[in-house]
Amino acid sequence: MISLMDTHIHLDAPELNGQGLDLLSEAQRYGISHFVVPGVRVSGWSGMLALAKNTENVYLAPGLHPANADQWTTSAEHQLKELTVEPKVVAIGEIGLDGTVGIALQRQEMVFRAQLQIALDAGLPVLLHSRKTTGRVLDILRELEVGKRVSGVWHGFSGSLQVAQELFALGFKIGVGPILLRKNARKLPEAVKVLPASALVLETDLPDMAERPEVLLKVAEKVAELRGVSLEEVAWTTTENARQLFF
Ligand SMILES: [Zn+2]
Repeated sequence: MISLMDTHIHLDAPELNGQGLDLLSEAQRYGISHFVVPGVRVSGWSGMLALAKNTENVYLAPGLHPANADQWTTSAEHQLKELTVEPKVVAIGEIGLDGTVGIALQRQEMVFRAQLQIALDAGLPVLLHSRKTTGRVLDILRELEVGKRVSGVWHGFSGSLQVAQELFALGFKIGVGPILLRKNARKLPEAVKVLPASALVLETDLPDMAERPEVLLKVAEKVAELRGVSLEEVAWTTTENARQLFF
């Protein structure tokens, strides 16, 4: 039996109407055994924590999505710092910059930096979200030496091999998700083929990018096909990469 880890799954998303736990038992039938739930909004953090406390193999990456950067307050900062000591909290996420949302990038960057600082202080890796902001995010990660100090995952990666290699050199993993399954995907398959095995972790980003949890298995199968290795090898390597990062 293979064991896969979904490093980015929004089990607490309002769209799931509280059915996240049903998805977990479904996922387990496909060998998906471990899950990391990233934060999106401040009001979601307590529910995420309750879910993780009550559910085996569900871990948390609380944080504020850049699209919600306007929710950042002293109280939010306080709450996030307190969450870092919870045993089930394995990362801070999903944090970063998003050039497609209606919040000034200056504001987003202030909130991103504050959350990076919390992760660095707590020694926790980060789950990064970046859209149309690759250069700026890379500059900040380099400046603060985030990769070297705590590492993390560039979630939903869709960039070029060159950017992936740069991220890996900085100390980050590449979060490979359902974008890989798109018929018109060009850059990501090329990167997945060439990157070192130790660079890759898997994710669904459910419910945004996938409706069913077993999409993770399809992503793993595609990675295996592209790299010319067995599904078992992809499962073992990606799960081990994630384990080393988070546990
Ligand atoms: Zn997400």
